[in-house]
Amino acid sequence: MDRKEKMDIVINLFRKRYSNEIEKHPNNYNKDPFRVLISTILSQRTREENTAKATDALFSAIKTPKELLNLNIKKIEELIKPSGFYRQKAKTIKKVAEILVNNYQGRVPGKRATLITLPGVGLKTADVVLSHSFSVPTIAIDTHVNTISKRLGLTPEGADYETIRIALESLTPLPERSLVNLGFVFFGREICLTSYPKCKTCPLKNICRYYKH
Ligand code: SF4
Repeated sequence: MDRKEKMDIVINLFRKRYSNEIEKHPNNYNKDPFRVLISTILSQRTREENTAKATDALFSAIKTPKELLNLNIKKIEELIKPSGFYRQKAKTIKKVAEILVNNYQGRVPGKRATLITLPGVGLKTADVVLSHSFSVPTIAIDTHVNTISKRLGLTPEGADYETIRIALESLTPLPERSLVNLGFVFFGREICLTSYPKCKTCPLKNICRYYKH
């Protein structure tokens, strides 16, 4: 079986299993690029429910980069505390707000090369913002996408971020890119866990390189 056939099976599984959850995902109804950007920075090294609590608290107090910039750092820390590492994250998001206000008329830039110059923003965060808020059909490579795509044999062992992204995008039709983005995340939480993948009950075991070996 070639990689394209494998990817079609993966896409079909994600569609059947996760369409409802994906529809309800916060990034599908909060497409404001500033909120998605800040929420993705807050999501670093924490669980999704903590990110949601911190994001909701922060955005109940502010809505724009200018309002965030005007907020006292202690107040920001207090609001985003559930996300963990809140002192560092507070400094980072305040600096992001300052750059957006001073250099980009208070707007989030819609270009990857510009986004990754912002503090706390790497390729993954940039791709999350581009795919959710700017409808760019890119696939953000988080830890689940990285691990599962390699286990399945969709991407080479040891491949870096860009190699994985380009490989997966070449296998995924444009309309399915956002399904694939979140499908890997849900599948990684439910079945293909990073430390203990549930291979025996996995619906993809017949096509999985890791399981065969
Ligand atoms: S068989 Fe195991 S390693 Fe392969 S996708 Fe399923 S859970 Fe992951």
